[in-house]
Amino acid sequence: MDRRKASLLIAGGALGGLGILAIPYLGSSGVRIVGFPTLPVFDETAAQIVPANAKVATELARTYNIKVKIHPELRILCRTADAVSTLVQWAREHDIPFAIRSGGHCFAGHSQHRRLVIDLREMQYVEINQQQQIVSVGSGQHIGPLHRLLAKAGFGIPAGVCPDVAIGGHVLGGGIGYASRQSGLLCDQLQSLEQVNAQGQLVLASNEQNEDLFWGSRGGGGNLGIVTRFTFSLRKLTQLNVISIHRRLSTKDTAQLLADWQEWSQRQPFGTTTHIKITKYPTGGMLVSFTGQSTEPRDRLVMAMAGIFAGTVPDFERDITTGSPIEALAKEPEGGNLPGVYEFVQHELLRQALDLDQCLALLEILESHIVNGAYLFFEPLDGAVNDVAADATAFPHRGKAVFIVQCSTTIDNIFQREERLAGVLAVKAFMQPFSTGGAYVNYPDADLENPAQAYWGDNLPRLSAIKRKYDPDNMFRHRQGIPLDR
Ligand SMILES: Cc1cc2nc3c(=O)[nH]c(=O)nc-3n(C[C@H](O)[C@H](O)[C@H](O)COP(=O)(O)OP(=O)(O)OC[C@H]3O[C@@H](n4cnc5c(N)ncnc54)[C@H](O)[C@@H]3O)c2cc1C
Repeated sequence: MDRRKASLLIAGGALGGLGILAIPYLGSSGVRIVGFPTLPVFDETAAQIVPANAKVATELARTYNIKVKIHPELRILCRTADAVSTLVQWAREHDIPFAIRSGGHCFAGHSQHRRLVIDLREMQYVEINQQQQIVSVGSGQHIGPLHRLLAKAGFGIPAGVCPDVAIGGHVLGGGIGYASRQSGLLCDQLQSLEQVNAQGQLVLASNEQNEDLFWGSRGGGGNLGIVTRFTFSLRKLTQLNVISIHRRLSTKDTAQLLADWQEWSQRQPFGTTTHIKITKYPTGGMLVSFTGQSTEPRDRLVMAMAGIFAGTVPDFERDITTGSPIEALAKEPEGGNLPGVYEFVQHELLRQALDLDQCLALLEILESHIVNGAYLFFEPLDGAVNDVAADATAFPHRGKAVFIVQCSTTIDNIFQREERLAGVLAVKAFMQPFSTGGAYVNYPDADLENPAQAYWGDNLPRLSAIKRKYDPDNMFRHRQGIPLDR
């Protein structure tokens, strides 16, 4: 493609949508956007330049949490690692600050920037190697379709439960999913990664090369480069049970179920992982969502579940789908959209299970403080997650916490903010005495007093040293990034 043609391929090739801010820099080496130095030329297969006033810019600015949404002056959709490399060199040369975006799910908006967003959402591919039992995935790959493609091929991976989350941010922070009690965190399955470093070079990291970078990329949450490709090992999967039980229960029954479930969950074989989500019901009581997956034989799973459900949800068995992995996943949401909620989320890492009185007290706070739609969400953090030592990767919470508990509420207008936020904070305050004091970097909280210590604990000094080695000028940064100086 000749240079002039390439320079016109901006925002879908429609210059009309660009207004006057973008001027094709004819006869020169690239494209000019007002307020920026001349951009490199990208072939359309490599990247698409999207200035703020392009027609598609508003749609592309959509993010999971609209509370943190920023419309950048310039977004560049990168389709190849070479394009990322060129862009990093350009940003470095001209000292242009930027954010990195894959799936746009960061609660705290770390993938947003006023100036430039390097956007990897189109780097979506899944290459399965059946023989070696590995899969290579682009950073923008959504988790839902990945689970399905792997299930079709008879494999599983411990990636998370929200189909729209992208692999990029997810695995760099750790990655907790329904297979985590069996296979650990998603980052524990990482064999190697390919990333663009601060000099714009493409480098590989694995247990054999750049081991320190590989260590820091498993739980460090990013900020060491821009990862373009991840390769994971896979687990064979022949049969799967998918559990999806949603019932309205009284607050008292819900508290009993929550107390029972915490003990029950820890006693289950590692092939069974379940989550419990409790939402305040508009007309009283609670909506209990009990979801999960199990590789146990169905009859054994049903027998085990009867132990906690027989009294309150006698017909639970009809909500377990059993079959080949792809059959079992058939009713699960496929994803494909960003709902765009205005959400406040807090979380704590619990050292121990809460007893019945504590569960009752917790639900009373949910009931009295927070309006409809607020929820508590419990995820286990035991099993194979703890087979890996706490200092073997940058994720420091292994062996310290048994559950992660999120509390979240959304608002429709600013007048609801104070009351609903107060409710979330009351839940957090209640849970704090039972907490490790740590925080999961994939559930970032903009209000943490010492975020780096909470996210990385004892692993922080080593992670900071890796940051100093690979990114001494702090090119890859955001408000809660890895500090250079610990
Ligand atoms: C609805 C919902 C459900 C969730 N469910 C789960 C779950 O089940 N389990 C779980 O563990 N987590 C879960 N999460 C948290 C999720 O793992 C994190 O929000 C994750 O960071 C999102 O990744 P992303 O690429 O979609 O987001 P982004 O906002 O694009 O990125 C998140 C962070 O990673 C950085 N980043 C992204 N890609 C790269 C890259 N290629 N190189 C370097 N840095 C990069 C960004 O700069 C940003 O700081 C959930 C979040 C939401 C909103």
